[in-house]
Amino acid sequence: MKVLILGGGPAGCAAAYFLKQLGISDITLIEKETIGGCARTSFYDSIPYEFGPQILYTDEPQIRKIFEKFVENKAAPTKDREYHPKVIIDGNLERPHDFPITIANVLMSANPIKIIYELYKLKLDEPDFSNFENYMLSRIGKTLYDTYVRNYNKKMWKKDPTELDAEWAKERTLTLRERNDMFQGRWQGHPGNHNPIWEGMVSGIKIEKGIACVSESFKKVYVDGKSRERDYGLIISTLPLSNKLPYMNTLKIYVVIKEDKFIMPSYINSFPNNYNFIRIMEYKQQFYVENDHSLLDFAFSWNNDTGIDVNKAIEEVRWFCKNILKRKVEDLFFINKTYTYPVSTLSIRKIIENKLKAAADTKVLPLGRCGLHAYVSKDLCVRMGLIMKNHFDGVLQKGAKKLQVLHKMREKLR
Ligand SMILES: Cc1cc2nc3c(=O)[nH]c(=O)nc-3n(C[C@H](O)[C@H](O)[C@H](O)COP(=O)(O)OP(=O)(O)OC[C@H]3O[C@@H](n4cnc5c(N)ncnc54)[C@H](O)[C@@H]3O)c2cc1C
Repeated sequence: MKVLILGGGPAGCAAAYFLKQLGISDITLIEKETIGGCARTSFYDSIPYEFGPQILYTDEPQIRKIFEKFVENKAAPTKDREYHPKVIIDGNLERPHDFPITIANVLMSANPIKIIYELYKLKLDEPDFSNFENYMLSRIGKTLYDTYVRNYNKKMWKKDPTELDAEWAKERTLTLRERNDMFQGRWQGHPGNHNPIWEGMVSGIKIEKGIACVSESFKKVYVDGKSRERDYGLIISTLPLSNKLPYMNTLKIYVVIKEDKFIMPSYINSFPNNYNFIRIMEYKQQFYVENDHSLLDFAFSWNNDTGIDVNKAIEEVRWFCKNILKRKVEDLFFINKTYTYPVSTLSIRKIIENKLKAAADTKVLPLGRCGLHAYVSKDLCVRMGLIMKNHFDGVLQKGAKKLQVLHKMREKLR
């Protein structure tokens, strides 16, 4: 059987890897840029960076084994390279709080008694799934939600939290934690360079450079304008499930500053509520690179309604470096990517279900973050590929059986 894969990010690469294991030899992957997608590592001098601060983590031994097979041992993620993001809620960089919120934050807050009383009254075994805000209120109470979660979410998703689906919160580590590492002791860290994973997964696969497109009905597939669906028994698409669904886009402004020490007060990154950017990330600090300069990025989220004024964003970043960080900008560049985050609002549940049903009746298998319109990390993209392999009979059938596999791929979100 001939298989076509659209998109060479973590989901497309993992799909190729598992198809090879099934003994399928005729696989073609279409990629418009380079293998690795959002998780491809680039280098500024010796400092590695990705489009996002790409921590590798998983709690599934089978997926961990796959990652470990490809990453160099010396740089493999371990527990001692835990990810400790911080959040700045009041603009004071000297006083970052833990992210996710920890018990220490509660005790050091202005009104610990009120927060503890609110937490005490919660019925943790009866979470409210009616929307994102209600879910969070039922997990952490009003004061913690108002202080740490509400504004960041409004800024990140450009939506009122009551419009967002509760699944958004479940997939993320936002609730009160005992430990201050984001992934709570899971296998985690940065491997130094992610590219050996993606390149290893697609070794032996035909890779074609091109721009792919799937019709809304999933019946037509084009590469560089040429119809391709007839040539293949299975087409795996990691492209957006539908153009009618909401997505966020991300502008990343990268700044180089002469500095041999760490600059950010937080361990890794922060979400200052009172600036337009949603986070700052210091790569040197994340990777412990010896260097006389440091690379920071400032992430801005935007959707097609709000748009983004890149020059204004650069101006804000320059102002922040000069006046808050008190550092001279040595170099500055930016990357502006669309379709970086699928947004899960209450009103789209039905659209997603109808789209999955439509795809299940064709030879297209949607996969990955945009393919299944799911806010997932790299390990869950690989997990989707594993589910495809384990239920390949269902994938090759059209209708109910295939739909069941698609639901299984999204089930961890619920
Ligand atoms: C800012 C940010 C931070 C993140 N941090 C983490 C983290 O710390 N840990 C973690 O595990 N995950 C993290 N993630 C999530 C992780 O990056 C995604 O889960 C993962 O990259 C999704 O893989 P994918 O293959 O579904 O999509 P992508 O990575 O988006 O890959 C899609 C690929 O398809 C190609 N493509 C797109 N359109 C076309 C087309 N029309 N024709 C041909 N090719 C096309 C693209 O060039 C790309 O290579 C982060 C994501 C972002 C945006």
